[in-house]
Amino acid sequence: MFDQLIRRLEKLGREKLSVSLPDDGDGYMDRQCSSSSCEAMFKVDASAWSAKVLHALEAFCVFCRHSAEGRDGFHTKAQVDYVYRLARDKLDGIVSDAMAKDATRHNAKERRRPKNRFIDISMTMSVRRIPKKVLVPLASTEALRQQFACSECGFRWASLGASFFCHACGHNCVSTTFGETLATVRSTISSLETIRATLAGAQDTDTAANTVRQLREDQFSRVVGAFECLSKALFETLPNAAHHHQRGNVFQRVDDASAIWAAATGSGYGHFLSAAELDDFRRLVQQRHVLGHCQGIVDQKYIDYSGDATYGVGQRLVVQDVHVLTLVGLVQRLAAGLRGLVP
Ligand SMILES: [Zn+2]
Ligand SMILES: [Zn+2]
Repeated sequence: MFDQLIRRLEKLGREKLSVSLPDDGDGYMDRQCSSSSCEAMFKVDASAWSAKVLHALEAFCVFCRHSAEGRDGFHTKAQVDYVYRLARDKLDGIVSDAMAKDATRHNAKERRRPKNRFIDISMTMSVRRIPKKVLVPLASTEALRQQFACSECGFRWASLGASFFCHACGHNCVSTTFGETLATVRSTISSLETIRATLAGAQDTDTAANTVRQLREDQFSRVVGAFECLSKALFETLPNAAHHHQRGNVFQRVDDASAIWAAATGSGYGHFLSAAELDDFRRLVQQRHVLGHCQGIVDQKYIDYSGDATYGVGQRLVVQDVHVLTLVGLVQRLAAGLRGLVP
């Protein structure tokens, strides 16, 4: 009775379903890092992706340089859901068709039998209609989104946080994109009020306030992360870089980073910033650790290291626009100074 269904299911085991992922209308396609410690989202130029990444054995996360297979290594969770949904729709369709054919054949056979039988078997089919899932692209506004082009291979991508590595070739592009990152952070800060007002109208004031606070705090990571990545890239171009051991993530620690630059070039951070500015920088970088690792709750380590007496242990940091802009200004001067130290 189920001959058609059985044959169709056997055939299905040998079939491949090919799906094209939709782009966002601007020619960009969402991607997501598959490393569980990162999972960051970004966008890539969809046509460049087809040309350069689709068949590549290796592509890279633009934030952490985690590498995975080009075609399937960076699907977003929404895309995976979308593909499953398509596959299920297709399977539903195949099963329904095969069962409908089996039913028709069976019923025809039954009709040809004499009608004086005690039991008459009849099958009916109802086909469920599942609404198609719509992919929601990474929510972004032009002010927050930064576009990148690889200085090695020309591949184009975009992200909401500062990203450093080319998705196609893995090249560290931070030295060419650092200035744009700072500009994007500045424009993000100046857009926060508009974003807050828009969200308050569309959602509610609590959601608006929380989103704006999160965006403002994210800028800390963006600036500090980009500066660390730049420092490392610049340091490694020094002819004597190999003679100076980089202990752990040395460029994450202000005083250790300054010391290794001083040892290698004779100029530490104090060469470019005044003592008061260096104190500000130390405090702001330490705040980024607190935001990133302690949900913004001040601990004794923060107070000891930053010398910031305005907070007690257990209080939450309050980040203001001016703090982010101060950090941007300090980092800009330090970066210019460090660039002057490398050949
Ligand atoms: Zn990543
Ligand atoms: Zn590249």
